[in-house]
Amino acid sequence: MAHPLEALLVLQGKDRKISRLQREIRDIPVRKAEVETQLEHAKTKLAAAREAQMKVESDLKQLEIEVEAHREKIIRYKQQQMEAKTNDQYRALLHEVAAEEKNISELEDSEIELMEQLDVSKKAISEREAELKEEEDGIREEQEMLMERLAEVQEDLEELKTERERTASNCEGSLVKKYERLYANKRDFAVVRVENSHCKGCNMRLPPQVVNDSLNPAKLVVCNYCGRMLVNL
Ligand SMILES: [Zn+2]
Repeated sequence: MAHPLEALLVLQGKDRKISRLQREIRDIPVRKAEVETQLEHAKTKLAAAREAQMKVESDLKQLEIEVEAHREKIIRYKQQQMEAKTNDQYRALLHEVAAEEKNISELEDSEIELMEQLDVSKKAISEREAELKEEEDGIREEQEMLMERLAEVQEDLEELKTERERTASNCEGSLVKKYERLYANKRDFAVVRVENSHCKGCNMRLPPQVVNDSLNPAKLVVCNYCGRMLVNL
């Protein structure tokens, strides 16, 4: 006679597939959220690059205003020079003009540095934009794939559940109940094989009597250690 647990092994095979599909269905929204976070990250990086560029641009404008102010001072000093009454006055103004020119030259050095920074930040922005574009394309594709997969898995799951019920109806009712409780509790296997006198569920060596009993289809034998049903085919 066929071992009664043989049918349970088939049922367990289906239950394991169902568990796998259910896990996948649970994981898809998680993966979707991860992908969306990735996209947000790329957007944040681009926004930061744009902000950095705006800061450099505003610093540059500020510098230009300062340079202009110094230039106006020079014009004023030069006018005053023409109206100078004494040599001392004239020399003092000459000195002021030189100081202003030095200021301008320093500001212009900073301006050059800022313009170099601007080039760097422009390049960074176009890189970030390309990155975002790539990210968006990839994400759209992945989202579509995930949704397709989800529909597929859900369909498979429904089919499998029907099949599973059919298989369960071919097994003895009280045995199925026992098996279901055990499977829910163990989450991996409720029925395991005996191999070389070892339980394949927990890998413990079984007492000879238990191994012997497991060969008898009329007996329902469980592992002394993990409590899983033992089948010795
Ligand atoms: Zn065991």
